[in-house]
Amino acid sequence: MEEARARAGEVGDIVELRLDCVEDSDLLTRLQSITGTQKGPFIITFRPSEQGGHRVLSRAQREAFWRGNWDSSRTALADIESDLVCDPESPFFDGPFDWSRVIVSHHDFDSVPENLEEIYERLAVTLAHVVKIAVQANDITDCIRIFKLLDRARKEQRNLIAIAMGNAGVATRILGPSRDSFLTYGSLDDESATAPGQVTARQLRSVYHIDDINNDTMICGLIGLPVMHSVSPHMHNAAFSAEGVNGVYLPLEVRDVEAFIKRMVHPHTRELDWNLRGLSVTAPHKSSVIELLDWVEPDAREVGAVNTIVVQDYELHGYNTDVHGLIEPLRKRVGSLNGLAVAVIGAGGAARAAVWALQRDQARVTLFARAPTKVRSVAQFSDVPCEPLEAAVFRDFDVVINATPLGSGDYIEQTPAVAEQLAGARLVYDLVYNPTETEFLKQATKAGCETLGGLEMLVAQARLQFELWTGKLPSSTLMYDAGLAALSVPLAR
Ligand code: NAP
Repeated sequence: MEEARARAGEVGDIVELRLDCVEDSDLLTRLQSITGTQKGPFIITFRPSEQGGHRVLSRAQREAFWRGNWDSSRTALADIESDLVCDPESPFFDGPFDWSRVIVSHHDFDSVPENLEEIYERLAVTLAHVVKIAVQANDITDCIRIFKLLDRARKEQRNLIAIAMGNAGVATRILGPSRDSFLTYGSLDDESATAPGQVTARQLRSVYHIDDINNDTMICGLIGLPVMHSVSPHMHNAAFSAEGVNGVYLPLEVRDVEAFIKRMVHPHTRELDWNLRGLSVTAPHKSSVIELLDWVEPDAREVGAVNTIVVQDYELHGYNTDVHGLIEPLRKRVGSLNGLAVAVIGAGGAARAAVWALQRDQARVTLFARAPTKVRSVAQFSDVPCEPLEAAVFRDFDVVINATPLGSGDYIEQTPAVAEQLAGARLVYDLVYNPTETEFLKQATKAGCETLGGLEMLVAQARLQFELWTGKLPSSTLMYDAGLAALSVPLAR
């Protein structure tokens, strides 16, 4: 615990000590040693399991703990649950604390309660210096009520920590302090996160630069499901810093894209006052988002996918930078695509974009897929020949592109083709970027082919997104290095 506390002190302004995690017999000794050596301020919690703590604790145990162990002369803030503080029958209702050091807290690990505002009012009338409300966001639109509560507390000059827990609530953790949340919580590392959706304290500072976020900060983000694994926040936030743009890029876990666009994004209908400039769009929303936009560039409409949204005056504009992102690294390797024989493996969104872009550049494209019906759906907008993937031989192709998820995630050990099938092809291009060296690329190397990984495409499409939002084109090397460094460090659980 002492080692963890020291590490936490290096990245956080305030360290929270979860004393409910410490065995009873050690508690007093530990607390005395900590209060004697802790330099900065810290928060003590002693939470029962039903309120998110680590142990079953009776009310009598909790009352005895706070009576006996909290020394108000030290620098500690006491985070005490509202059932102890707000009950007029409780001995803690109007004493015996130094209330300037008390945080009165309410947690809901299931949802955002209907009576959120009532709960706030009940906590706000106590003598506690700070009110804390942490509730579970089951949808990103749950963040709206949290931000509105922060607005209200600011107007009422009441210190409030308001957090929406869960991946859908990450925006409240990152933007909270800029909207006057008294503080935000970051975990020491991914394993030690004490609440779902918690980002590490180091990432709050080094990736999101939360100390620099203010009312003027341009907000961008990635919408999709899932998004917490994405390296895009690392790349875009590095570019904001390098380009000197006051901006932040967040992972935004969105299930219901229609509700999100209506309630949080579109300037005519949104319920949240925030400086949102643009969004990256990933699976599963790239196609369904199109009908929610005011204008879509012709290429994106033709491909049937938007991966970038720009909030332009009072309208939402849609673009597809994947198309360019996919082709740019390929052109760098092989020059003109005109007349080149290219095999595209897969029949999903990435394959559609690849076929469209390659045909536009006069390449001779053949599609390989496992499911003939899906192949036909790709072929609907082109005259591309379609072949079964099983037992395909690629020796007559200049380029072979993997546009399936094989080699990543649950399919990490799989490959759409082995060395014997790839032998004779000039360049093998895997759109998968995590891991950087996939089984497909290993097989290609074994077959003597040149290889190209998906991170270059990710960077190329991201640079164009950044340019659409800011008018500045950041360095590819900077974004590539930020993406590469992040691949081994996920943003949150
Ligand atoms: P998607 O729309 O879900 O399509 C995936 C395709 O892969 C489907 O056609 C699917 O076949 C096929 N597939 C899945 N498992 C297969 C298997 N065992 N054998 C043969 N085919 C299989 O996904 P997507 O958006 O096109 O993305 C595909 C990959 O490209 C993902 O790994 C994604 O991360 C990557 N990507 C990378 C970038 C980048 O910037 N580097 C950008 C976009 C996408 P069925 O149609 O038969 O289901």
